[in-house]
Amino acid sequence: MKFRSLLHSKICCTRQNYCFSCVPEHEITKSEDIAILQNFVDKFSNFLVLTGAGISTESGLPDYRSKGVGLYDRSSTRPVQYKDFISSAQVRKRYWSRNFAAWSRFSSTQPNETHICLAKWEKVGLINWLVTQNVDRLHHKAGSERVTELHGTSYIVKCLNCRTSFSRFQFQEQLSELNPHFTIRATEMRPDADIEIDPSLAGKFNIPDCRNCGGILKPDVVFFGETVPKEKVFLVYDKVSESDAVLVLGSSLEVYSGYRFILAASEQKKCIGIVNIGPTRADHLASFKLNVRCGDILPKIQVPFSENTSL
Ligand SMILES: [Zn+2]
Repeated sequence: MKFRSLLHSKICCTRQNYCFSCVPEHEITKSEDIAILQNFVDKFSNFLVLTGAGISTESGLPDYRSKGVGLYDRSSTRPVQYKDFISSAQVRKRYWSRNFAAWSRFSSTQPNETHICLAKWEKVGLINWLVTQNVDRLHHKAGSERVTELHGTSYIVKCLNCRTSFSRFQFQEQLSELNPHFTIRATEMRPDADIEIDPSLAGKFNIPDCRNCGGILKPDVVFFGETVPKEKVFLVYDKVSESDAVLVLGSSLEVYSGYRFILAASEQKKCIGIVNIGPTRADHLASFKLNVRCGDILPKIQVPFSENTSL
């Protein structure tokens, strides 16, 4: 049996505790699927988890590549490229105006069952390290602490010149003061806190320079066309080496920055499990692949001492 995201939304939303419109069509979780993941969790107790946009769809943030509901399938808009952002004031105005309009809604997004389970798994000592490709801070909101945000976070703003960083909430206040008449707010969200707005409005948007040095301000997010800092990459390679297995949740692994760690785990002959709706780039390397919704299967997994674990 398959769930259809949009067709079922009207009849299922009242019964579901997740956002149906962002979750792609998927298989219902079967007892065999649960047994496979349960076996993984029983066998390994120091594993690395790699998460992608697919786990945040249930919180109402669409992913990039899912069939039917992902950003690339629903829109011709593509995320901003690093070289365009640093070289064009117009691109920065466009980026920040959209991000400004989306921020209130994006920053109020809440963790779902998957984030909550992973925080619990960390607490009972199952997870050695969690690497996320998401910039939405939902793992932190759920209580996870052993986390690397591979692509940075939308919650911090950095100066490209002097490297000063500060809270995105603080930046929102600055932007509000500079743009008192800009009142558009998001009704629909994208994975990178982006929404569609009238280009003529974006062109009039005022953005401040760094208060320290006048440099360009950018979210602490690795944009497309930008590279992940080397120290971060080395840290994750170390975490892969010291982990006894790898579990991929909600990522197609199309982007090399995450895929390379699965290649490393495979070279080290580690068990690789994948739970993702739709194919991934590493299906051929995996010991198992489950085409189910993470928020459906993870809560059904029994973990040690889970009855006494309160978050
Ligand atoms: Zn600066």
